[in-house]
Order: sequence, then C-alpha cells, then structure tokens
Amino acid sequence: MPGTLTFDQLKTDVASGTYDTVLVCFVDMQGRLMGKRFHAVNFVETSFNETHCCNYLLATDLEMATPDGYASTSWEKGYGDYVMKPDLGTIRPVPWLEGTAMVLCDILDHHTHEPVPHSPRAILKKQIARLEALGFDAMMATELEFFLFEQSFDDIRKSGFRDMQPISGYNEDYHILQTTKEEGVMRPIRNHLFAAGLPIENSKGEAETGQEELNIRYAPALDCADHHSIAKHAVKEIAWQHGRAATFLSKWHHDRVGSSSHVHQSLWKDGEPAFFDKSAPLGMSDLMRHYMAGLIAYAPDYTYFLAPYVNSYKRFAKGTFAPTKTVWSVDNRTAGFRLCGDGTKGVRVECRIGGSDLNPYLAQAAMLAAGIKGIEDKMTLAPATTGDVYEDAKAGDIPQTLRKATETLRNSAFLRGAMGDDVVDHYTRAAEWEQEEYDRVVTDWEIARGFERA
Ligand code: ADP
Repeated sequence: MPGTLTFDQLKTDVASGTYDTVLVCFVDMQGRLMGKRFHAVNFVETSFNETHCCNYLLATDLEMATPDGYASTSWEKGYGDYVMKPDLGTIRPVPWLEGTAMVLCDILDHHTHEPVPHSPRAILKKQIARLEALGFDAMMATELEFFLFEQSFDDIRKSGFRDMQPISGYNEDYHILQTTKEEGVMRPIRNHLFAAGLPIENSKGEAETGQEELNIRYAPALDCADHHSIAKHAVKEIAWQHGRAATFLSKWHHDRVGSSSHVHQSLWKDGEPAFFDKSAPLGMSDLMRHYMAGLIAYAPDYTYFLAPYVNSYKRFAKGTFAPTKTVWSVDNRTAGFRLCGDGTKGVRVECRIGGSDLNPYLAQAAMLAAGIKGIEDKMTLAPATTGDVYEDAKAGDIPQTLRKATETLRNSAFLRGAMGDDVVDHYTRAAEWEQEEYDRVVTDWEIARGFERA
C-alpha cells in the first residue's frame, strides 16, 4: 500500500515536478481541515519549518463567527497569530487533486512555541502521553457514516436546502446492487484515500436511503484521528468533484435515521493486545474491565465531545440503532457500548454514542481520559445488559440535549482534572455559543406550525 511520503521524497518529487502544491492544514474545533495552499517549492525550501494563522481559527463556529467569552483570544486581545508547525510524519499525496500533497500541523503558541492546549491534536496527544506513561498504546477505529445526495453542494444551497434527493431510492444496508450504482463516487473515495496512505477497509451501504459507511483499519489513536479528518474532507471534496453532495450532519432529516461515528477501542502493550485474557470470561482482561467501567461511568461528562451540536441530539432516538443508555452489552447494537471480538485477540469495545459530526481528536481524547480514570481507580464493571436496552429503566441515560451535555461538561471534575480547566472552559464556551445561536433563530418549523393556528 502506498504510504505517507518522507520529507526527502517530497523534495525529490517537487524537484521532478510531481508536486506543485502542498496543502498545509490543521484540524479545527469542528474537525475541519483549515490552512493554506503552498507552492510546493516554497514549502520544501522554507515553510516546512512553520507558517502562521490567525488565532481566531480555534474560537470560531461553523460559520466563522467570532463569539465572545473565550479566554484564549478575543477582539480585545487583537486576534493574533498561532504557529502552524507541520508534522513531517504526516506528509502524503492527495491523489484526487492534481500535483498536490498534504501535511498536517500542530498548533503552537506564537511566542512560546508551546502546544496550544485547546487545539484538538494537542488534546489527544496529551491523553496518549498519559496512557503511554502507564505503559499502554491505544488502537482506535472510527467509522464514518454519511449521506450522499444527487445534487451538488451549490445546487442544494441555492435551493435553500429544499428538495434534497438522497442518491438512492431505498434503504441500502449492505446492498450490493444499489451501491454499484454509487461506485462513480465511492470507488474514487476508497482508491484515492488508499493511495494517500489511509488503510481503507471497505465502504458499504447503510440502513437508510442514500446512507454510506466508510471503514478504515484501526490504527494508533493519533493516526486514526488524522485518517478520519482526511477521509471526511475527501468524501466531501470527491463528492463535489462528481457534482454530488455529502453530509456528515448527525440527523439531516427528522424522518430519516441519523449518521454515527462508532469508535472501536483497544489497549496494547509491547505490540500485544492488553484487553485480551484467554482464561477470563469473554476474553476480557481486568485492564479492559477497568477501562470500560471508566468509559461508561463518565459517558455523560464527555457526551458533548461525541455530540457537539443541537442537531447531534436529534439522532438519539429509541429504536434507531442510536443509543440512549450508558450500559454495555455483548454484540448488542442497542447499548451505548458494545463488546466486539469477545474471546479473541481482537476483543475491543465499540462506543456507539458518537454522531458523524464528532471531532475524532476530541472524542478519542475524552474516551481515553475516561478509560485511564477507570484503570487508575480500578473501577468495577457492572454486568453486561441483555435484550432491548432502550427499555432498561435501570440503565443510566446520556444527556438528551446540548444544554444538558454542556452542564455536565462544565461541572465535570474528572474532565477538568484530565484535560485542564482551560480546555474544559474553552469547549464549554463553544457549546454555550452553539446553543445561544440556536435559541436566537426562528425556525421554519415554528412559523409553519403557528403562523395561522397560534
Ligand atoms: P463489523 O463486523 O462491525 O464491521 P469489523 O471486524 O469490520 O466489525 O471491525 C470494525 C472496526 O473495528 C474496523 O474498522 C476494524 O479496523 C476495527 N478493529 C478491529 N480490531 C480492532 C482492535 N483490536 N482495536 C480497535 N479497533 C479494531
């Protein structure tokens, strides 16, 4: 499989004319690639060291508004610069764009060159380092679900987001005939990403009209988050190239099922799966039980990082495969946490709470922090639940609204300890702003419901 490029290889390829453009990117709070398009010669001669960006980029919403209330940056502070420091281990071709390579950056303080604490990549690196100090590595896989539409992004926007036509006419779960009809878009997505060094496993039709899933092989947590961000970007970009649109909204229509990003997790020690104990029930080691106990106990605290928008909470509905309860079960898709690969070296936990709109760095960091807490406190895992978990009255609930999730985030002593007050305060503000914007807007639904009849 073609992999990432070394810096030396990139220099050679730029000299021979293979690349003329390098995308220098970082991942923002919303999980988007932001950055600049460099002439490749400039990048290999100077900008590989560092470049700069306005520090508002880690304090905006999806529409690039500049909300007040962030300690890190503001109009008052003058919106200065951050350093974008290319991580030269992430250089890779971008095969779906002509003559183009890409690199991901870490975000550093302009003056101290220290990592900016609320940068998503820094947040994940911190939890990985904590886990390494305990002697473990995390392997993760984040599934990407999304909807494809017949129309292009621009056509949909110009139509006021009306009459959106999903690319298929029926539920296409595991459907080979229907997905053959979508190969014009999905095949280039799989093959271009593979050629960009992402270990693509497969794509499949999902359980709704026009819904797709893309699976990438599990990898060390940071690589997994990098892969997810690049793949999500590529899905939209390649769909656009083919005159189509793709959305990662958790719930694009109230009558359709939502899109998830399930996160598979396992810990390893010296290259061996540390979650596996051949002689233990279900093959689950004590370490795995402690990790899962932390993951489940603190799920309400970190739900915001799995569901960051008002829209995300509309996905959590009974009987839709989107979970509402903080319990685990063995290969049961109605629980928030599902044991997979039981009794084998591949034993792992899948968190099913996250929506397709999650930021993979933040989601993984929060779950690692919860797992670490479970290990440190040797927390006890309750027995697995069985049956339809939606109807389990004793099971704990995940916060059902952004407002509630914001409260649990703000008040989480555990996350404040694990991530730092500055990080929790920063994302609490992001969550509040999202709610404030929503509360301010009068929606079409309210008008249609009440215009004549109220
Ligand atoms: P399914 O039958 O649900 O599709 P798969 O066996 O394809 O399950 O695995 C789902 C995801 O879990 C894949 O992306 C795979 O790479 C990942 N995965 C497999 N083993 C592990 C592991 N030990 N740790 C973390 N993720 C894993």
